[in-house]
Amino acid sequence: MKDIYAELISIGDEILYGQTLDTNSHYISAELDKLGIRVHRKVTVADSREAIMKAFKEAEVNADIIIITGGLGPTKDDLTKPLLAEYFDSGMKLHEDILEDLRERFVKRGRELNELNKGQAELPEKCKPIENKYGTAPGMWFEKDGKVFISMPGVPSEMKYMMEDTILPRFKDMYQTPVLIHKMVKTVGIPESILAEKLEDWENNLPKEIKLAYLPGLKQVKMRLTASGQDEQHLQDLIEEEVNKLYQLVGKYIYGTDDSNLAGKVGELLLQQNKTIAVAESCTGGQIAHLITANAGSSTYYRGGINPYHNDLKINVLGIKTETIEKHGAVSEQTVIEMAERVREIFGADIGISTSGVAGPGGGSEEKPVGTVWVALADGQNTQTKLYHFQFDRAGNIEMTSNSLLNLVRQTLSLK
Ligand code: ATP
Repeated sequence: MKDIYAELISIGDEILYGQTLDTNSHYISAELDKLGIRVHRKVTVADSREAIMKAFKEAEVNADIIIITGGLGPTKDDLTKPLLAEYFDSGMKLHEDILEDLRERFVKRGRELNELNKGQAELPEKCKPIENKYGTAPGMWFEKDGKVFISMPGVPSEMKYMMEDTILPRFKDMYQTPVLIHKMVKTVGIPESILAEKLEDWENNLPKEIKLAYLPGLKQVKMRLTASGQDEQHLQDLIEEEVNKLYQLVGKYIYGTDDSNLAGKVGELLLQQNKTIAVAESCTGGQIAHLITANAGSSTYYRGGINPYHNDLKINVLGIKTETIEKHGAVSEQTVIEMAERVREIFGADIGISTSGVAGPGGGSEEKPVGTVWVALADGQNTQTKLYHFQFDRAGNIEMTSNSLLNLVRQTLSLK
């Protein structure tokens, strides 16, 4: 078995201008990865003859599979088809069956085919057409010296249909690739550098089949373990062994693996302990409620949330004392304590949590600069508080607050 390498070429000025996000290559990479095909390069090129031809030539040197998306429409700015014909030194051929199919589809929509649409049924002789159920431009499959060139439309739904219906099943039959297994281990509340320090010895002694990557985010660091080889069971066992070691070394920071999320972990602990939670969010504006309720089954443990942005709502709806806000301000330890305790009581939950802070970019003062955030957790016996001084943009400060408070809930429940 040998490694199979793929290169992805996205064609389109709109991607280079930043108007379209290249989600196609993201999807294709993930699908190829599942088959053990290694995507070693992705390029995006302009709608220009020189750029596209250069990309074809370069890709052919190192890749076994070249997957191209975009530029397949019927208009003049869509260059991919004529350039592939030129690249493969191929004449054009009209596919009567494709033309008939197009005609039928147009009739159903009460339209007539024009010359531009008819041109869609004309393809380079040297390619095999790939059916496009959702659009008018067929895909193309070329083979040359053991290399495969595939061209698909840029429209994501059309591209996905071709991948699922034709391309991925063919790849499964064509290639016997080495097994590639990824395992994501997710941590929270420990910076990447400290985590790496704690894991230095473990990392140095990883089996040769396993590679490690740190993927840091806000308050969270993911570790990706990738195992490659021939024997799937052996690789699964190796990964499991290393994940167990990770739990022994830094288990208190690990909240899950693969698709798990921090709010989901909090939900799992609440369920196990038969407890409920309610949220009073000021600076996070509902983000924590959203993260909790994004998990299926959250109605069992999530009582509800309130988002009293204005002080009059903090006072009149949530029942925070006027004196508390007047004396200490909305962003203060006293305010978040009352918010957490009141939401717990009013919503009849076992745990009440709250946030109040200056997310920015405006609203900061010398005493409470942008990034100053108070959070609280009330469980009926104790009310814990934490003060943070974040230094991110507005979205980053909100995300850090949400993750930090969810982590406080996780830690508190983990101690029970
Ligand atoms: P059409 O037949 O519609 O002309 P096409 O193959 O010519 O299809 P493009 O014109 O390049 O495709 O792109 C059509 C639309 O598909 C674009 O407006 C864009 O929204 C989307 N698109 C193109 N490339 C990508 C990509 N790499 N990732 C996500 N979306 C894309």
